[in-house]
Amino acid sequence: MKFLCVGAGFSCAVIARELAQSGHKVTVIDQRSHTAGNCHTERDKETNVMVHIYGPHIFHTNNETVWNYLQKFGEFMPYTNRVKAVSGGQVYSLPVNLHTINQFYGKTFSPKEAKAWITEQSDQSITEPQTFEEQAMKFVGKDLYQAFFKGYTAKQWGVSPTKLPASILKRLPVRFNYDDNYFAHKYQGMPKNGYTEIVDNILNHENITVQLNTPFDETMLSEYDHVFWSAPLDAWFKHQFGKLGYRTLDFEAFTDEGDFQGNAVINYCDEAVPYTRITEHKYFASWEQHEKTVCYKEFSRSCEDGDIPYYPIRLAEDQALLSQYENLANQAKGVSFVGRLGTYRYLDMDVTIAEALKTAQGVLDDLANNQAI
Ligand code: UDP
Repeated sequence: MKFLCVGAGFSCAVIARELAQSGHKVTVIDQRSHTAGNCHTERDKETNVMVHIYGPHIFHTNNETVWNYLQKFGEFMPYTNRVKAVSGGQVYSLPVNLHTINQFYGKTFSPKEAKAWITEQSDQSITEPQTFEEQAMKFVGKDLYQAFFKGYTAKQWGVSPTKLPASILKRLPVRFNYDDNYFAHKYQGMPKNGYTEIVDNILNHENITVQLNTPFDETMLSEYDHVFWSAPLDAWFKHQFGKLGYRTLDFEAFTDEGDFQGNAVINYCDEAVPYTRITEHKYFASWEQHEKTVCYKEFSRSCEDGDIPYYPIRLAEDQALLSQYENLANQAKGVSFVGRLGTYRYLDMDVTIAEALKTAQGVLDDLANNQAI
């Protein structure tokens, strides 16, 4: 069969590879000039540092299948993400852990003492937190919420944390020990030569054709039996109900001699600071030596026409719109919607890859059983 994959990020690359290995012909198109979507990495011309062009991406997963799958396509180096946060003129450890609590309150609490203290600070009357703010008030209390989450979240999402779902904060743990690993997953690492090399290796198969700088055009459809769409879901339906909301990011790049901040990522939690974080890219590759450094100051704003979509917002109005598009998507023939943009979800890379493997397997099973896909 002949398949068209729209978008050359992890989602479509994995689907294309799985189908190609089963003998199907796959064309992957992307309107941008590179593969790997927002995971794209490239070496900075001035410093030779590998830069995460669309912001920091750290690979972490508990899914052994996904981890092993990726190892076939590139070398991963050990990397542990340890984030620092600046709040009220001081530097703290993130995610909130025993060090953060002791630093913040000027204490020397043991784990048990810290737990009791935080329970006292937190709002235990909230049983089922619905919003981001309720989740924070229940788990860390007002002081830590205001210091680390309120301002950052307002900048990141452009709305008050009272309007955001609790699920966004559930991504982050609160720890009563000194573990400052941002992620609690079994596997964590950084591709030695960047994400784009990995995606290119996944796409490197005789049955796959990659066409960059190629926007989707409906006239292409007649050539293919089925489409995998990893572009925005609402774009396939020509935005007929209106546009799904996204946040986009702007990066202010700058270089410096030596080190700039001494860590890969430092968050700026005060609302008065206009950016959310600064990324110093060479800290993602500790095995490399660089005399100069390149940093990205990251600003979040509403995504307008022509901007690159990053984070699906999923506020109440977006959710209602999403259901309308999902209804259409469920009925649509000849197309499957995949990935972060195709399904309008806040997906980590490992989940994207796991879902792509499942989608491809589903299609191969249907074909083997002579069922329509
Ligand atoms: N967050 C925050 N302060 C921080 C870091 C995160 O308030 O210093 C909130 C923010 O709303 C963010 C969410 O927690 O969107 C999830 O954080 P994560 O680090 O997973 O965000 P990502 O790296 O995906 O942008």
